[in-house]
Formats: sequence, structure tokens, C-alpha cells
Amino acid sequence: MKKLIIIILVGFVILAGARQLLLPKMVERGYEKLTLENVGVDRAAELADGLHVYICGAGSPLPDPKRSGPCIGVLAGDQAFIFDTGTGGARNLGPMGFPVGRIETIFLTHLHSDHLDGLGEMLLGRWINGGRSEPTPVRGPHGTAKIVDGFNMAYQLDSTYRTAHHGEVIANPSGFGGKGSEIEMTDDSVTVFEQGGVKITAFRVSHEPVSPAFGYRVDYKDRSISISGDTAYDLNVAKASEGVDVLLHEALNMEMVKTLENSAKANGADRLAQIFNDIRDYHTSPVDAAKTAKAAQAQALVLYHIVPMLPNDALIPLFVKGADAHFDRRITVSEDGTIIRLPSASEDIIYEYGL
Ligand SMILES: [Zn+2]
Ligand SMILES: [Zn+2]
Repeated sequence: MKKLIIIILVGFVILAGARQLLLPKMVERGYEKLTLENVGVDRAAELADGLHVYICGAGSPLPDPKRSGPCIGVLAGDQAFIFDTGTGGARNLGPMGFPVGRIETIFLTHLHSDHLDGLGEMLLGRWINGGRSEPTPVRGPHGTAKIVDGFNMAYQLDSTYRTAHHGEVIANPSGFGGKGSEIEMTDDSVTVFEQGGVKITAFRVSHEPVSPAFGYRVDYKDRSISISGDTAYDLNVAKASEGVDVLLHEALNMEMVKTLENSAKANGADRLAQIFNDIRDYHTSPVDAAKTAKAAQAQALVLYHIVPMLPNDALIPLFVKGADAHFDRRITVSEDGTIIRLPSASEDIIYEYGL
């Protein structure tokens, strides 16, 4: 018996030693395999023709471990667009397989900081990844040009370091930064892009005192989406989104934010309580977003710009409580990494997770 125990113990020691020797080699091999399968691979090149939506930032100014600042990438055929550049969004696009170097235009819904504080990183990513020789067009409401000029100024020195280090083929100075231009909204909506079968329409939304503030609709072949931007419940969103496959709507749960206000007040944080009170009047509840989706006759509703933070999925039913009474199709509470694919010549809506 004693002998057997000794043999087993020696066996364990030998196995542990072998594992110690083999494990680093296995990790190294795995790392090589993983990088070969992913680094520099254009995963967008193999996609079905259609509209592909990448939620690079599903959150708001409130910190949420699952949701960066608002950011939506759209691939329409072979043209790529970005709608808002919230902080953290640019970093999610690469791992999600979005072709950052192919971005045609960045559209801003409005000029609240949470929608543009990642603009510098987005411009840098498109410049270096795409080897572009012209600045990235950035379009948005009045004030956009000034903001883009500011980012250009802030990143100017960095751009000289990159050109000096990588050379002009990789970091062509003429492709650095952005070129801002402003959308004139004289009616409820205006076409802002039409090329290669892609039509993008900006529409007016209600986010006072931020005015104007826009939502955007993207049509490509027989598929379409719309993006609400930040807005209070507004019938113009439904009007501009009529018949879309997917309505991406901002959402703030009024009762949950009221609870934040009460808790802040109970803890003597009156300033914070006041902010939680103020933000409720210029956003839309999940229930009202569902009403908008129904009025628009959308095929699906995807909520983003989620307020408050939902660090645990157990909170999702509370967040969307009552919404399904107004919209009987799928309602998705998005997070960073949510991808929605709309292949052309099809009615399919395919949901994936890309992070
Ligand atoms: Zn916002
Ligand atoms: Zn806003």
C-alpha cells in the first residue's frame, strides 16, 4: 500500500513537472495561432452584401463596464460610416472586425461631449489604418467645424511624431485629422450623403437646450436603419424612420434614474441628485422608444445610449419593463460588441456579438 502511494505521488510530481515545461510552449503556440487568424485580416471583406451595424459604444456619460460612450459603425456595401465617437468606441471597432481604414465620413448627432470625446482616436485610427491622403470628413450640426479644428490642433504635434517615425507612406501628413462641415437643417430632414447606393438622411430630434440635434437614417439597397441620437420622445423620429428594418433608439429608464436621484439625495449628494433630475427631460424611456418603433413600423428595436448603467444583465428586465406592451417585435438592449446584420435581398435580421 505504502509503495502504491509513493508511486502515485512520484507520478504526480512528474506530471506537474511536464506541465510546467509544456505549458509555456502551448501558450506560445496558441498566441501565434490566434494572431495569425486575426491580425491584419479584413473580416469585413467576406461579409454578405448589405447593411451591417456595429455598436462600438452602447453607453452614455455614466460609466458602465459593458457600455462605452455612444458610437455606431455602419457598413453599407463596401462603404463604412461612423455615427458619434464616444470615448472607448474607436477601440472596440478593430476587435469587432469593422474596417476602420475604410471610414468614408463620421457623422455627429449633436455636440454633447459624450458623443465626440473619442473623435481624436477615431480620426487617428482611420488615418493610420487606411493610409489616407485626405482628412476624414466629419459632418454634424452647427459648431462641428470648430470642434474638428480643435481636435486637429490638439493632435497636430502627435501627427508629426508619427510621420517622422513611420514615414509618409504609412502616415501621410495630408491625410491627418478631420475636415468638419455643418449640416443645414431647413426642414424636418435633409439628405446628407448619396453615393454608391447608400443614402443617408439627417433628421431633426428634440434635445433642448442642445439645438439642433440630429438623428440619421441609412438606406442601402432594400435594407434600412435609423439612429435616434439623443432625444426626448419625438414623433419626428418615427416619421423619419418609417418602415426601417432596425430602429436604434436611445433609452433612459425614468424610474431607475429617479431611484438614483433619491439615493443621491439620501446620501446628501444634492448636486448629483439635481443632475439625475435634470437629465430625465431630454431623453426617451424604453416604453416611449417602443411606441416610436411601433409608429415607424420598424421590424426591430435596438436600444443604445443606455441610462442608467446596467453592469449586470439581471437589471435588463427592469430596464425594459412595459416596453413589450407597445412593440411586439424583438427589443434588444445593446452593449459594446452587439452587431446586427441585414443582408440585402433578404428580410433576415442577424444578431451577433463581436467582442
Ligand atoms: Zn448623450
Ligand atoms: Zn446629448
